[in-house]
Amino acid sequence: MTKKITIAIDGLSSTGKSTIAKKISKKLGYIYVDTGAMYRAVTLYAMNKHYITSDTFEVEKLILDLPKIDVSFRFNEELGFAEMFLNDVNVERRIRSLEVSKLVSPVAAISEVRKKLVKSQQEMGKNRAVVMDGRDIGTVVFPDAELKLFMTASDDKRATRRYKELLDRGDNVNFKEILHNVQERDRIDSEREDSPLVKADDAIEIDNSNMGLEEQFERILSLVEQRIND
Ligand code: C5P
Repeated sequence: MTKKITIAIDGLSSTGKSTIAKKISKKLGYIYVDTGAMYRAVTLYAMNKHYITSDTFEVEKLILDLPKIDVSFRFNEELGFAEMFLNDVNVERRIRSLEVSKLVSPVAAISEVRKKLVKSQQEMGKNRAVVMDGRDIGTVVFPDAELKLFMTASDDKRATRRYKELLDRGDNVNFKEILHNVQERDRIDSEREDSPLVKADDAIEIDNSNMGLEEQFERILSLVEQRIND
């Protein structure tokens, strides 16, 4: 029987981690877990309750509510991927908005939030055969993952990708605002005390500024094959 491995994909914001992770998981028949979606769902909860706005954050209220917050993925057969549900409501579209992107990093810096979500991520990946993307997968969630990747790209390329994505779904967005958001999230994510965004010592860095999806896919697939045959 083929060996099943754990694939951890971390990196900067908007480096196309989830696009490549989905493609790899489909090819291997592995489960895919987008951990950013989980932090985004908790942020949406805090926004709905008015615990967080652009200039206030009632951290204690969010911490007290954590046992009541259920974030789960449900596979959508038609779309071919899992959508995020927050307390039984499909929030897949709402969590991808710029409003959520602007508030997610402060929420993700709260240790109590991380503890809850990391526990559930470890549970989802406990049988291996998983591709998980985020910021701390290779360092904290699965430090023993067989393959760790760290994705980077220039700020301009990353902001351009995110800008196109939001325009395509019909959002009214401004390029400069997106560039600022991408840079600001990286700053907060890298500077936080709990599980900061850092490249694991044994992670392979992939700068995809000038790489297409197919090229990334072939490169990663050959790394996967090496690890499976190790
Ligand atoms: O991956 P995505 O850009 O959707 O992640 C949104 C935010 O969630 C990140 O900017 C970061 O603040 C947080 N995050 C995290 N740890 C993870 C995944 C995401 O802190 N494993």
